[in-house]
Amino acid sequence: MTPNVSTMPPRTDDRPADSVRPADSRAKPAQSTIDDYIQYCRPRTGEVLRAAGLDTEYHRGVGDQLFYYDENGREHAVWDFLGGYGSLIFGHNHPELVEVAMSNLRNQVPFSAQASCRGGAARLGAKLSGMMQERFGESFVTTLANSGSEATEAAIKHAEMQQRSKFEALEERLRADLTKIRPALTMGEFRVNEESFARLGDVFRFSNSSNFEKVIEAILSHNSRIIWKTPDFLAVTRSFHGKTSGAVKLTYNPKYRGIFNRIGINANFVSAFDADELRAAVSGKMIKLYSLEVRKSEVFCVERQVSNVAGLFIEPIQGEGGIHVAPPEFLRACRELADEHNFPLIIDEIQTGMGRTGTWLYSEQSGCLGDYYMLSKSLGGGLAKTSALLVRTKHYIPDFGFVHTSTFAEDDPGCNIAVRSLELIEANDGQLMRNCVRQGNAIVSGLKKIQARYPGVIKEIRGVGLLIGVELEEQVNRGSLLIYNLSRQELLAPVVASHLLHEYGIRVAPALSAGQVIRLEPSAYISDDAIAACLHGFERVCEVIYKQNMYELTKFLIGLTHRGEATPHEIQSFRREPLPKVSEEGVRKIAFIGHLIAAGDVKLADPTMGAYTDQQCDTLLRRIFAVYGMIQYDLIEVRSVMGERVLLGFLGLCFHSDIIIERMRSKDLGILQEKIMECVDYAIENKFTNIGFGGLSSIVMNNCKKVNRTTIGLTSGNAFTTAMGLEAMFQAAREQNVDLSKATFAGIGANGNICSIYCKIMADHVAGLILVGREGREGPLKVLEDEIYFEALEKIFITLAADQVPLAELPQQLTGISRILIETAAAKKFFATVDESTEFDEKKARGIVREIKAELGDRAPVKFTTDLREIKNAQLILGASSSLEPMITADVLGEGPIIICDVALPQDTHESVLERDDVTVMLGGLVRLPLNPNFVVDGIPVPDGHAYACMSETLLLGLHGMSENYSIGSISKTQVKKITEVARIHGFKLGMLKREKSF
Ligand code: PMP
Repeated sequence: MTPNVSTMPPRTDDRPADSVRPADSRAKPAQSTIDDYIQYCRPRTGEVLRAAGLDTEYHRGVGDQLFYYDENGREHAVWDFLGGYGSLIFGHNHPELVEVAMSNLRNQVPFSAQASCRGGAARLGAKLSGMMQERFGESFVTTLANSGSEATEAAIKHAEMQQRSKFEALEERLRADLTKIRPALTMGEFRVNEESFARLGDVFRFSNSSNFEKVIEAILSHNSRIIWKTPDFLAVTRSFHGKTSGAVKLTYNPKYRGIFNRIGINANFVSAFDADELRAAVSGKMIKLYSLEVRKSEVFCVERQVSNVAGLFIEPIQGEGGIHVAPPEFLRACRELADEHNFPLIIDEIQTGMGRTGTWLYSEQSGCLGDYYMLSKSLGGGLAKTSALLVRTKHYIPDFGFVHTSTFAEDDPGCNIAVRSLELIEANDGQLMRNCVRQGNAIVSGLKKIQARYPGVIKEIRGVGLLIGVELEEQVNRGSLLIYNLSRQELLAPVVASHLLHEYGIRVAPALSAGQVIRLEPSAYISDDAIAACLHGFERVCEVIYKQNMYELTKFLIGLTHRGEATPHEIQSFRREPLPKVSEEGVRKIAFIGHLIAAGDVKLADPTMGAYTDQQCDTLLRRIFAVYGMIQYDLIEVRSVMGERVLLGFLGLCFHSDIIIERMRSKDLGILQEKIMECVDYAIENKFTNIGFGGLSSIVMNNCKKVNRTTIGLTSGNAFTTAMGLEAMFQAAREQNVDLSKATFAGIGANGNICSIYCKIMADHVAGLILVGREGREGPLKVLEDEIYFEALEKIFITLAADQVPLAELPQQLTGISRILIETAAAKKFFATVDESTEFDEKKARGIVREIKAELGDRAPVKFTTDLREIKNAQLILGASSSLEPMITADVLGEGPIIICDVALPQDTHESVLERDDVTVMLGGLVRLPLNPNFVVDGIPVPDGHAYACMSETLLLGLHGMSENYSIGSISKTQVKKITEVARIHGFKLGMLKREKSF
């Protein structure tokens, strides 16, 4: 009977994609929906959708269009080329299918009437089998389910039942054979065929094969053990068969499967579509069973090989894997192997089926018939959640219907829709399928022209009918560092998809297992207008990528679009030839993690972002924060005066200090730490010997202590940063004529490690030290005070004992605090008896410290305090407190000249200080590289030829071959001195003073 159905759905709405409908009071602001979705449904996924600008909520779908409301309540339409991942061959809400759905409700068709004769299921099963019979001359039994993955589950279970019953029958037959010959054997009536028993002996390690009873027992137990082995399933790389716990084992992508590798079935993957590898894999899955046979009074041991493969799963065109068509010779090999070894060939037509490729099943064209078929997606007509497993009647295990059931499978309303869907496909002699071929060809030929116009953007266009994949070319840095990194992170296709949606109203998406492939799967009714709009969008976005214009590509993310413009605007080109690759041969590589300091610095890193204002950069960076990963820069060679070379791999974090500081304040460091660890793991994987943590990244990782990796040398760079900070203060002191031997140094934040090191080193140079710390934390300040005195005594001792300077000449030889101490009576007494044979008596020295302090009283050169006003006497000041407010205001300072080195976060120096001409404020010292006058890392705002000290420490460790951890956790004075020495060897010197923030 020819069904009374048309093929073209009457359209209820066919407005162009960028038309707008006036405000509707039903409109709900999208913002609250995405927030709820993130909070209550899919936290991370929702964040990613939001970051990528794919968080639109559609409230209506008609044919090939979806509709959403903008923030003003106006309705917009987009062309849906994603087509529900292939489940919308009839488009949204096809009127004839809607009619079936309505009549289901009108006629009160029962949704649940399990354990009865299910009329809908009967009609659907008969329809499916009839269609198979017509095409392949075979009847099939249908098991219904609710989703594609469930059809896969059903296939796995049926295949296992099929193999099990095959094996059980075989075992039973072998057992029966043995039982039959057993009496005669044990009576010794037969001769043993020595050769065949010798082989058996090798397997079972028999010493005496004439004890037949034992031989038979061994064979039986071997056979049953081997038969109960876990079955092997085969699939191919890039496959996608679903994500339920069984199906996901057959889905190749390790991202989906890897985390679940402790559970589920035993799946083996063969390279798609390598027939030889498949043959080899099948041969490797043979198992051996044994039996005895009597031929002319001679007993032979016989070996039977059977395949342990329970099923081979194939998508004849891989959908989520990136639209790859299986070649016919591969499918032929699948069929032959399945026949030869008697396992089912399971063909997944969940995405390829239902007319999309020009035939109802793609198998009609491929010429390869499977034993099982899986169907879903468009089977439900875009309205019902339906799937089906079809098993060739001759293979079907009748009991399967008892062991595999589901509450909602076989629901009559859904089955009625599915039956009508199948009728729609066949109507008018398959006009729907002819449409798919015609419109598919139009899309592909249009895309091919675009591909040719913008070389290096689209790599390949693949597919059949309306199952089309557009693979983007992997980018190298041809002008836009960020476009290159989008591509490297497989984010280019999602951004292109989002760009097409926002700029052109075209909805597409990357394949689930091939992030660089955009798939197009519109309905069979896709109009010429829609195709023209889609091709226009592709044309423009390919131009943008070709011209390497990151601003044009991403501006929609901050609400700037050219959507609906009458004449396309000019796109500025930043395209240039990629820089030549530096050879990595025989050179050590060191990595350095950096982040943007100010949002606008992203324009330094990628000049193709130049059209953004700083404020817009901030908005954009915040938006993409959740998804954008590490930015990999080209390697830069750095050389030392010793002739050593090292390659610097700068690993950029695509966010700025404000974002980090906000998260530090809210104690929400998780995602920052994840992103930093991505850099560390990348560096390990790519054989970098050292990794340095720039800016705030070392603080986020608790001075590297949070990095639990041992195969790379870690450093915060704090030792050399401290060395350069001191060096910068000394240089400024010289410039400002501050005499160190008379000056007082104040360390603010002396409770902390870094400040304490500054104080200890400064103690060798200045006449007085003021240790400023927080109230209530005087204990550690006193410890530091004592330590400074103790180290000063130690220094005197070394000068006396090791350098053999006579006591009388000591004061001239000493500098800093030790010079003051040697004038005290207590010290003089202590050192009077020292000669080269004397050991430094630490305990006694600590006693002397107490005596000296008592002796000097108020005149003591080292003081600790919690009162900031005491810094009035200081000419040199270090700001290293953890105060949230700036503490060094103009009025707490004494008379100039004063030199302030501020390394605190946030800074300790108040703006009022900057107004004073007699105060030099700096944030540390930059390093001048000895042999790289043109050294720059794009995005890092330092003068050419300069590097931050923390980066320089990492470079030095690489140049000096020190691949162990260096500055991690608290640093010591010795570390500072050692790295200073390494820097001297390699010619790294203080360059400009650092006046801009480096975090
Ligand atoms: N098999 C194939 C070939 C598919 O494309 C899909 C879904 N993309 C599935 C199985 C799984 O279907 P579902 O998402 O309905 O579980």
